[in-house]
Amino acid sequence: ADFPAAVAAILQLAPAGRVLLICHVSPDGDALGSMLGFGLGLRRLGVSQVQATFPGPFEIPEPFAELPGLDLLVGEEQAEPRPDLVIVFDVAAESRLGALADRLPRARATVSLDHHASHTGFAGVNLVDPGAAATAVVAEELLNRLDVPLDVEIAECLYVALATDTGSFRFDMTTPRVHEMAARLIATGLRPGDISRRVFDSRPFGAMKLSADVLGRAQLDPTAAGGHGMVWTYATLEDLERHGQRPYVLDALIDPVRCVAEVDVSVVVKQLAEREWAVSLRSKGAVDVSAVAVALGGGGHRLAAGFTGYGAPGEVVTAVRDELPRHLIG
Ligand code: 5GP
Ligand code: MN
Ligand code: MN
Repeated sequence: ADFPAAVAAILQLAPAGRVLLICHVSPDGDALGSMLGFGLGLRRLGVSQVQATFPGPFEIPEPFAELPGLDLLVGEEQAEPRPDLVIVFDVAAESRLGALADRLPRARATVSLDHHASHTGFAGVNLVDPGAAATAVVAEELLNRLDVPLDVEIAECLYVALATDTGSFRFDMTTPRVHEMAARLIATGLRPGDISRRVFDSRPFGAMKLSADVLGRAQLDPTAAGGHGMVWTYATLEDLERHGQRPYVLDALIDPVRCVAEVDVSVVVKQLAEREWAVSLRSKGAVDVSAVAVALGGGGHRLAAGFTGYGAPGEVVTAVRDELPRHLIG
């Protein structure tokens, strides 16, 4: 990864220029945490004109509503139209930038921090480490090379990013490096218990009732994926409305679904519009769901991926089911 080029571009353009930070649509903990943590770091460097944004509805999921650095955030309509420097977080392809993709060709320099193997190299400088557990790992390294010391606010942002993308330090990419980074972050004085309660263990009563409905209609398909099996369910806009919940609460549903012991693949189909669905895919190791997602127009990691599907939920699931046997991991 070309850290010296990124450092040079930032030191040249950021102090006097307009800096725009962008993360992916429907931001998760890594997207928001790495972006806001880095944005706070730029402020510590004395950069005064820095905005952070993401495409689509300007909604901060409740679990992230107390992240430090939220005052850096603006909706896409308020985002600087002609930034000098654009830095992109947790985005593998320009399609995940929506309408904000037009800021990249206008900027004097663009830098992408990411950890998806499928990264397309769309920026001028691409800091992509597919071995990193989160984009926050790359962000910490870049802050370090910019001589920005960690403080408790930056650390909290990066910690949320690291904890969410590693499934609370449970997934395979939870390497010694990850725990060493977590140790540096915790050493700034942040309180992991408070953060975990806010981010993972807190949800409205209506969201619990909504989960009950959505999990209650899950279906087991033991012969899918060459016999490795699949479990799937779906959630509609009507479900959200009935329980008075916002769409991001559906993002947590893949977690109980992927715990089903009988099968390898789990699928949650979440309605976005009339015949449009955000699909979350997870595998325990038998299927490369990133390849499945790419075949269906999306992307992601080998064991966690997603795409946008069209039609009825059953049709979306059938498209996934048909694709699975082609992407078994040898
Ligand atoms: P999730 O299921 O948590 O929304 O997403 C899991 C992973 O799949 C994320 O790391 C993200 O990179 C990827 N992903 C999810 N949805 C999409 C999509 O619509 N397009 C692409 N390219 N990647 C996606
Ligand atoms: Mn992400
Ligand atoms: Mn990530």
